[in-house]
Amino acid sequence: MSLSRIVTYSAAYTLVPTYECFNRCTYCNFRADPGRSAWLTLAEVERKLEYLLSQGICEILVLSGEVHPDSSRRDAWFQRIYDICQLALSGGFLPHTNAGPLRFQEMQQLKQVNASMGLMLEQLTPNLLETVHLHAPSKVPELRLQQLEWAGKLKIPFTTGLLLGIGERKDDRIETLEAIAQIHRQWGHIQEVILQPYSPGDRQSFTASAFNSHHLPDLIAKARDILPQTITIQIPPNLIPDASVLLDCLEAGARDLGGIGPKDEVNPDYPHPHLQRLREILEPAGWQLMLRLPVYPQYYDWLSPQLREAVAAWECKLLHF
Ligand code: SF4
Repeated sequence: MSLSRIVTYSAAYTLVPTYECFNRCTYCNFRADPGRSAWLTLAEVERKLEYLLSQGICEILVLSGEVHPDSSRRDAWFQRIYDICQLALSGGFLPHTNAGPLRFQEMQQLKQVNASMGLMLEQLTPNLLETVHLHAPSKVPELRLQQLEWAGKLKIPFTTGLLLGIGERKDDRIETLEAIAQIHRQWGHIQEVILQPYSPGDRQSFTASAFNSHHLPDLIAKARDILPQTITIQIPPNLIPDASVLLDCLEAGARDLGGIGPKDEVNPDYPHPHLQRLREILEPAGWQLMLRLPVYPQYYDWLSPQLREAVAAWECKLLHF
């Protein structure tokens, strides 16, 4: 099997510290109003992790709605996220947090207990602040670009990406990809870029139709030209319903399918396909599906000693998969 015909995925389970979020992106199918979503308790996390130990799960994706930076509950919110990561890491899992824009010190602390972290850049164009992000202060493009910069400065292996079809123009997508490429050339920390087609769900107010996934292969080819070769392009298979389009995406340069787990919390109306189904699609076309860790080997040196130990243990397990 040629290395170039390998497609990776991560065995992930998502923990949601809270669904509450002070932003109101109109395409959101995740958020609850502030104060209207009970926070995940550490006792609940412990019980869940114990169960996941036997399920082959490696990555704990800690995906949270956001408590406002000026809120009196911000510190408690951050502490809960940190504690969840610490518990997961102590249990031998590899945490990956995506909790919206963070303070520099918050990122610095989370680095100690996260194999990698993430934040979607989505789109750089400020025009969206007048439409889908009118009531979403966290979606100010400069703020998100700054997060990418800080992650680079802090040597945090990072995943970012574009949300496609939320009102941006084709040129806007190219501009966003170029900005990611530029930041990566400076810091070398972007391990993956997700190209996520907007897919409508039951709870949103945004009325646009889904991004036409038939346009994805062309965009992936362009992204492959723009992004440095060390950045992997990730696509979510649950949002690409047509198997032939999925294969076209791989031919165009996508090489990763992201975290495959029981539920896509951001797109709850689109369950992940089973691994067996994915293999049935990929293997006849000469692609091999392979498990990967949530941190890529070129970044192992950046990890805290506790994380390095957990990664080494997973490397051993991977040899037996
Ligand atoms: S998309 Fe994210 S930031 Fe926007 S409202 Fe939903 S949870 Fe909040």
